[in-house]
Amino acid sequence: IKEFLERISDTVWEIPVSYKEGMRVPARIYGTEKIIAELDEAVYDQVTNVATLPGITKYALCMPDGHFGYGFPIGGVAAMDVEQGGVISPGGIGFDINCGMRLLVTNLTYDEVKPHIKNIVDRLYERVPAGVGSRGFVKLSRNDFREVVEEGAQWCVRNGYGWEEDLELMEENGCLQGADSAKISDKAIDRGFNQIGTLGSGNHYLEIQVAKEENIFDPELAARLGIFMPNQVVVMFHCGSRGFGHQVATDYLQIFLKVMESKYGIKILDRELACAPFNSPEGQAYFAAMKCGINMSFANRQVILHRIREVFSDIFKKSPEKLGMHMVYDVAHNTAKLERHIIDGKERSLLVHRKGATRAFGPGMGDVPERYKDIGQPVIIGGSMETGSYLLVGVPSGDQTFFSTAHGSGRTMSRTKARKTWRGDKLLKDMESRGIYVRSTSMPGLAEEAGGAYKDIDDVIEAAELAGISKKVVRLTPIGNIKG
Ligand code: 5GP
Ligand code: MN
Ligand code: MN
Repeated sequence: IKEFLERISDTVWEIPVSYKEGMRVPARIYGTEKIIAELDEAVYDQVTNVATLPGITKYALCMPDGHFGYGFPIGGVAAMDVEQGGVISPGGIGFDINCGMRLLVTNLTYDEVKPHIKNIVDRLYERVPAGVGSRGFVKLSRNDFREVVEEGAQWCVRNGYGWEEDLELMEENGCLQGADSAKISDKAIDRGFNQIGTLGSGNHYLEIQVAKEENIFDPELAARLGIFMPNQVVVMFHCGSRGFGHQVATDYLQIFLKVMESKYGIKILDRELACAPFNSPEGQAYFAAMKCGINMSFANRQVILHRIREVFSDIFKKSPEKLGMHMVYDVAHNTAKLERHIIDGKERSLLVHRKGATRAFGPGMGDVPERYKDIGQPVIIGGSMETGSYLLVGVPSGDQTFFSTAHGSGRTMSRTKARKTWRGDKLLKDMESRGIYVRSTSMPGLAEEAGGAYKDIDDVIEAAELAGISKKVVRLTPIGNIKG
């Protein structure tokens, strides 16, 4: 444990403003003693750099799954007061704008699915294209695509991809208002228009999972979320805005680097923290463009959901309705959103950057779907393809992190080191012998994703629960996986 860390509680650690010149607020890192002892040291530098950004309110935060990222740590949360010169920073959102996780349930048990698991995974592998540069089956013109990025998942449901009820189960009903495709470059459109319905590469995944009896921690809450019996099969997937979001972030990073210092006099400690005042023409343009990225990603996940329903329906010879294939929820973990939060007794308008962090609104809060209003927002967190994942809910004490929590287990090992430590083909066979059937577009890519390359998901979730930033409901065990 570093000497500069002040222990606030068993799971909260503070770096005071005296640590580095220019810090406007302290930094706070979440984690158990074990997580902190093993933390990637780059996080200390990154989270304290974030603490120097104009308008930052209360703390620069890092969630228990935190690790090194572009500019901000992954797991970083920073709320900027937009009435006090607060900035918007692409590095605080991530290149994969609105990368996120979606969970849907079935009314099938593990026993019913087990004989079909290979068929399910193989069919999904065909219908949900994965890998770098993969193209989807939805044929769109560049102009259609401009409509999609303004309308998000609502475009999809209107065009037959999914159910009306799906929209209620997404942040902002699957369409962020104010997305303006006039703020998007042709290059971004070119990269994205044929990628709707694709998973992408790396750690994006589509996973079949089981809720084992001993892992349903709160059966009543679990039932409210759609998990009503032991060994129920669910499907979780993780993907984002593909090349489109990446290009949007790249375009605006360049714009911000040009104007940040010369026009707005903002000095930063790391070029990767490029930013602009939220209330500036450049800041507003990026905000409207980033919302297009958010909507593209909602649309992408919506089409994938539709494919999953098609495949299950084909294999089990029943409609998706009869198979009970309802969405639990969809969470975004790479965004900046304008939210009202109470700070020292006063309500303020904050741009909350969550980069590899999940919004976790508590009971009663705005934008929590009506059916979950009394229990809080569902939170979906991936662990790894080998270990497990979690379904949680937001809690009232989440106000300490602007109602944010972890998004995954977080890497502990570089991709290069993981490739040297494991072999993809051997890992694939090992996993199959343990009851996890995997398809991947890349064997070295699979090795990078070994469970051992990540923090222990149970430790991360325990830290989030002890800190009071989310409450666990069910732990989910993988039985099939499509890896990007
Ligand atoms: P991100 O790319 O958003 O930073 O990573 C998301 C998180 O998903 C990672 O931190 C990791 O814990 C988790 N994850 C990565 N690959 C898989 C997978 O194949 N299955 C599951 N369940 N989780 C994964
Ligand atoms: Mn992503
Ligand atoms: Mn992600």
